[in-house]
Amino acid sequence: MDNEILNYFVNNYSGRIFSSDDLKRDENLIELITKDLYNEIYDEDLCSARMWNNGYGGQCNSKKLENTCFCKKHSIEENRWCGLVTEKKPSFVIRPGGSGRQKKWKTDSNGKLIQKQKKITKKDLKQDEKEKNIELLKTMFLNIKH
Ligand SMILES: [Zn+2]
Repeated sequence: MDNEILNYFVNNYSGRIFSSDDLKRDENLIELITKDLYNEIYDEDLCSARMWNNGYGGQCNSKKLENTCFCKKHSIEENRWCGLVTEKKPSFVIRPGGSGRQKKWKTDSNGKLIQKQKKITKKDLKQDEKEKNIELLKTMFLNIKH
């Protein structure tokens, strides 16, 4: 893990109560981690296939078979449905034998998280308010304890 991630964690989470769900919802943190793991800098010793990785993409981390560009799995064309990291990332892919639906990436080719345009509803705002209140109560509780 690099310092950027550790610093972010210390700055944002020290002294706080948080759950793994909080971490999963923290898009800044996810971006820091995925940027590192899934940026598509081509490593020529490794297989050239792009992986789906739950939508995060990134180069396959298996070694190439001798005299080919691919590992054993990706030497089969059907397994290269996410394209190659040496080629431009398509905006969506379709998994063979799957539902046939377009699967959209969560990150761009720099590993940066693609933001979903989400409509904010009244219900979301209420939920936000609720979460803020819970956070406030937690902070108060922590202060009493110490
Ligand atoms: Zn591979």
